[in-house]
Amino acid sequence: MRDIDHFIDGGPHASGDRHGDVFDPNSGQVQARVRLGTAADLEKAMERARAAQPEWAATNPQRRARVMFKFKELVEANMESLAALLSSEHGKVIADSKGDVQRGLEVIEFACGIPHVLKGEYTQGAGPGIDVYSMRQPLGIVAGITPFNFPAMIPMWMFGVAIACGNAFILKPSERDPSVPVRLAELMKEAGLPDGVLQVVHGDKEMVDAILDHDDIKAISFVGSSDIAHYIYSRGTANGKRVQAFGGAKNHGIVMPDADLDMVVNDLAGAAFGSAGERCMALPVVVPVGDKTANALREKLVPAIEGLRVGVSTDAEAHYGPVVTQAHKEKVESYIQMCADEGGELVIDGRGFTLQGHEKGFFVGPTFFDHVKPSFRSYQEEIFGPVLQMVRAESFEDAVRLPSEHQYGNGVAIFTRNGHAAREFAARVNVGMVGINVPIPVPVAYHTFGGWKRSGFGDIDQHGPEGVRFWTKSKKITQRWPDGSATGENAFVIPTMG
Ligand code: NAD
Repeated sequence: MRDIDHFIDGGPHASGDRHGDVFDPNSGQVQARVRLGTAADLEKAMERARAAQPEWAATNPQRRARVMFKFKELVEANMESLAALLSSEHGKVIADSKGDVQRGLEVIEFACGIPHVLKGEYTQGAGPGIDVYSMRQPLGIVAGITPFNFPAMIPMWMFGVAIACGNAFILKPSERDPSVPVRLAELMKEAGLPDGVLQVVHGDKEMVDAILDHDDIKAISFVGSSDIAHYIYSRGTANGKRVQAFGGAKNHGIVMPDADLDMVVNDLAGAAFGSAGERCMALPVVVPVGDKTANALREKLVPAIEGLRVGVSTDAEAHYGPVVTQAHKEKVESYIQMCADEGGELVIDGRGFTLQGHEKGFFVGPTFFDHVKPSFRSYQEEIFGPVLQMVRAESFEDAVRLPSEHQYGNGVAIFTRNGHAAREFAARVNVGMVGINVPIPVPVAYHTFGGWKRSGFGDIDQHGPEGVRFWTKSKKITQRWPDGSATGENAFVIPTMG
């Protein structure tokens, strides 16, 4: 049995006797054991981080950026093996794993430009003989706690920007697919990153609590489910840390009567079922406006869903693979039962799906419900599986209200040919990221990412310029160089630069 160790001080760190099982979701078998660390393991990493961070921060930003350039090259060179490793623990198909790596790399590309974005502001002559300038300085040692569903992209979102800014970074990845994060840390070392600047500690709540309570960790970025996000935010901020914590989602796709339905069906199938629905930017709710639109959409959607191919993650023809664990499969199936019990029309039932030769794999077939009501618990909560719920709206107003009133506010999409309706929708909807004829509106790396309501706690978004703000503090300097002509102005009055 392969053991997955912490990555501390530039190499594996094996200690402790608590382990978590890492499955191959395709076969249902345990394929490795990951260490579940303790506060003592974290302390080991902190010692090294404390030693390494000041020198890294003092390394000029161009040199720090060169490590990022080299890392980008190495990840590209290792793309095939990273994607295979990712798929083997997560279950998503290989092409989708490559997308996971690629979307993270795009943040690394942004981080390659760090010298430019770290430049401060300068005002010459803000007052008589007075200049004011600002600089952005790293926070010191910071941490990221990441979910299972993007084990490459989300760690890179965080450590790419944090490290380029001059911080030392402690990564606590999901214990369900921890191998890719370790591999990324190894590649950062190979790219020239000094030991101790990026370290990976594995674990569950015990390790997370140790991070939340450690005095020397100045900031925490979290991505995961909402209850945990709220907990991380509350405990981390109570301990005086800067925290951003992104949570779950239930994204709606609004279909206006004038939408191109063939395009919608194609986009919806991918956005609802791709990666087995295990994406925070998936579209698990479709909201056609008017019964005529709903009926026409349903007629096209049903055969498209029935035609989806579920397969092992190495099957190049498969649209999606298994979900991550048996427990998650059971949770998704229990939501299917709940929605049926609540009165949803179960048009396509994906329960009981098995794949020949992989009977123990964690597969769930594509599932489609019509006539789902906003009062259903199965609508209000996140299912995070290959389940699409259709909620029929009577009007555009209804369609704006549904995602706006939902507890989650991560992403939303509207499909229409009407520019005015799209513009109104984008302005009014109470959701953080909006797609207009774009089903998965994840902004590019040099913009920022972040949802609203229970999808995001804290006030600074992820990556891009917001990421730089999150991982640095600004220092403001007001300077005066006396020229000997001081006139004895009243020093007891607040200076006004007048
Ligand atoms: P999760 O909340 O179970 O786990 C996330 C992290 O929290 C993991 O590192 C895990 O070890 C840790 N954790 C789990 N239970 C904990 C506890 N009781 N105390 C402290 N730490 C704990 O989430 P997941 O199942 O890995 O990921 C899926 C969730 O993440 C979904 O809800 C999805 O919507 C969300 N997600 C959100 C975004 C976003 O940007 N908003 C992006 C991706 C995923």
